[in-house]
Amino acid sequence: MTIRSLRLPLAALAGLLVLTGCPDKTKTTETADTSAPAAPKLPKAPVFNADSAYAFTAKQVAFGPRVPNSKAHVACGDWIVRKMKGFGLKVMEQPFNAMTFDGTNIRCRNIIAQYQPTAARRVAIFGHWDTRPFADADKTKKNAPMDGASDGASAVAVAMEMARVLSQQPDSLAPNVGVDFIFFDAEDWGHDDTTQQGLKNQLDGSGTDSWCLGSQYWTKNLLPAGYKAEYGVLLDMVGAKGGTFTREETSRTNARGPLDKIWNTAATLGYSDFFLFQDTGGITDDHVYTNRAGIPTLDIYDHPSYGNDYFPAYHHATTDNMSIIDRKTLKAVGQTMTQVLYID
Ligand SMILES: [Zn+2]
Repeated sequence: MTIRSLRLPLAALAGLLVLTGCPDKTKTTETADTSAPAAPKLPKAPVFNADSAYAFTAKQVAFGPRVPNSKAHVACGDWIVRKMKGFGLKVMEQPFNAMTFDGTNIRCRNIIAQYQPTAARRVAIFGHWDTRPFADADKTKKNAPMDGASDGASAVAVAMEMARVLSQQPDSLAPNVGVDFIFFDAEDWGHDDTTQQGLKNQLDGSGTDSWCLGSQYWTKNLLPAGYKAEYGVLLDMVGAKGGTFTREETSRTNARGPLDKIWNTAATLGYSDFFLFQDTGGITDDHVYTNRAGIPTLDIYDHPSYGNDYFPAYHHATTDNMSIIDRKTLKAVGQTMTQVLYID
C-alpha cells in the first residue's frame, strides 16, 4: 500500500450517520415471519477456506521481507509461480528492471496467472507481492525491514486461495468467464513525503512515479498483449484483525458498478462489518495505473473507519506481522470476491 492523495474524506461522516441508525427490534420479534426482507439468493459458489489463506500468508512471511534484490524476494516469487501453476493456471512472468527514488537499481517481475484463459469475459484480481524495504512509519525502528503480512502477503494469499478453490471445482464458473490474478512487484519502494522529507526523490521529473513501479511497467507493456478486462479489483492490506474497507474515491469514479456489486454481495453474505458503506478520499495505489490502462479498477484496502488517518496503525510499521492477521478478515474478502465471480 502506498500513500494518500490530497483530498480529505469529507463524505465519511455522512456514511457513518446512516450506519449508526437503530434497527427496530420490537417489530422483528412480533412478526418474525414477515418483518425481515428475504435475503437475495446468491448463486452457488465455492467455499473460500480461511485456514488455507492464513497458511499462504504465513508462508510468504516466512521467506522474510520480500524486498527486491533479496534472496527472499526471488524465493517467494518462485513459490508463487509454482503454486499457481500447481493449481493448473496459465502462468506468465514479466521481468523488468527499475530504479527506485533513492537510486537503487532493482530486478523485478510481475506475475500473471490466468484461470480459464480463453474465456472472453475477464475479471482481473490485482495485488502486490513485494514488501517495503523500510518501516518508515514505525515509531522507533524506521529503517528496519517489515514483514508485510497484511501489506503484501494477505492480498496474494487471498488471490491464491481463490485460485485454489476455483481449480478444485472445474466447470463451476461460467465457461465464458475467466479470472486473471496479476501480482505486481515493486509497489512499495516509494517516497513518502510525510516520513521521508530528508530524502530526495530522484524520480522527480522523470515521468515515473516512485510508487507502483510494477503496475506502471505493466500498464505500458500489457501482458497478455492488448489485455482487456470487464473490471479489475485491487486487493491491498486485506488480512488484518478489525480491517475495514471503505469506498475509495478513484474506485467510485472509475468502477462504480463493480464496487456496488461487491459491497452489496458482502452485505448479503454478512460481512458489513468489513465492507463499510462509507465514502473516503483517493489514494495512490496500483489501481490508479490500471485505470489509466482502461481497466475499470477499484481498490479494496484497509482504511480506518473513523478519525483522519488514511491507513491503519500497522501501515509501514514493524507491527505489520503475523500477529495482526485474522482469518475472519481474509474470509470476508475472499468469500465475497469468490462469490462475485459467480454473479452475472
Ligand atoms: Zn505499503
